[in-house]
Amino acid sequence: MKDKIIRMLRQKDGYVSGEDISDVLGVSRTAVWKTINTLRDEEYIIDSSSRKGYKLIESPDVLSQVEIEPYLSTKYIGRNIIYYDTLDSTNNKARDMAIEGAEEGLVVIAEEQTKGRGRLGRVWTTPKLSSAAFSIAVRPSIKPEDASGLTLIMGDAVCRAIRKVTGLNAKIKWPNDIIVNGKKVCGILTEMNAEIERINYIVLGVGININVDKFPEDIKHIATSLNLELGKLVSRKEIVAEVFNEFEMLYDDFKENGLKNIMDEFKSFSVTLGKKVRVISINEEFEGEAIDITDDGLLVVKLEDGSTRNVISGDVSVRGISGYAE
Ligand code: ATP
Repeated sequence: MKDKIIRMLRQKDGYVSGEDISDVLGVSRTAVWKTINTLRDEEYIIDSSSRKGYKLIESPDVLSQVEIEPYLSTKYIGRNIIYYDTLDSTNNKARDMAIEGAEEGLVVIAEEQTKGRGRLGRVWTTPKLSSAAFSIAVRPSIKPEDASGLTLIMGDAVCRAIRKVTGLNAKIKWPNDIIVNGKKVCGILTEMNAEIERINYIVLGVGININVDKFPEDIKHIATSLNLELGKLVSRKEIVAEVFNEFEMLYDDFKENGLKNIMDEFKSFSVTLGKKVRVISINEEFEGEAIDITDDGLLVVKLEDGSTRNVISGDVSVRGISGYAE
């Protein structure tokens, strides 16, 4: 009922009478009044006048379906958002829902993650109400070995969204981090369940530091937020909706054409290309210059002896030689 009332109030610039709301929703006027008060407890600013009814003055910057939908232009990404105050990890929840048959484009969002994960079992911190943590479940008919391209697609979508909403010069540190002014504002974690020939589901987890103003000691030298870089608060719901808008466009193209149409843009967003990098995998470490990204999304690294290695994103970390991303 809360969402229906918000949608009704939003449709009108002026006041909506309690009677109209109770008629349309088929509930008593007391029930309407109680729900309005609950919404006020949730930081909605709603004016009421005994003659005219209710008017929505301001909505909180929360990441619920009803708050994100005014900014959405998608057909299926983010049209069904399962919203939580707190979760251990949105990827875990999206995975469980995918196992139960969740449809393509289902999104799980949490205002706080207590056990947010990065790659290789690393921790991803998600302070309450100032970050965005969400996971999208998809089931593309592509080969399992092409699935890592989705990480690049999502990185591109996040980059576009940040640039569009804030004007900040967001860049991509291959394969899965978004960087602003040399520090990380977003991480992407792609997890897949597949058989040899067929993908059952993929969960794309995204954590964006939007209005975070303080980071734990161990990551503050590599982490930043849109707010810290811009010097003012950023609309979280707009950023998240814009990521969905951009992702859907890129993903539809990816399913048809692979990565080839975004490669030029992806390379232009890259902080990695042209840099000396250290590639760290479970079995080995080596240094070289990142000289290209292939149409399959592999990083081409030129070693000192002149030979080149194509690096698969899977289990490697890439470090700049003179700093996290430089
Ligand atoms: P790296 O960033 O080292 O190349 P990675 O891309 O595999 O590795 P992720 O899995 O994306 O890293 O993220 C986990 C790492 O990101 C953690 O080890 C920590 O250093 C850092 N981190 C954790 N939380 C945040 C955050 N909110 N903002 C920025 N960085 C974070």
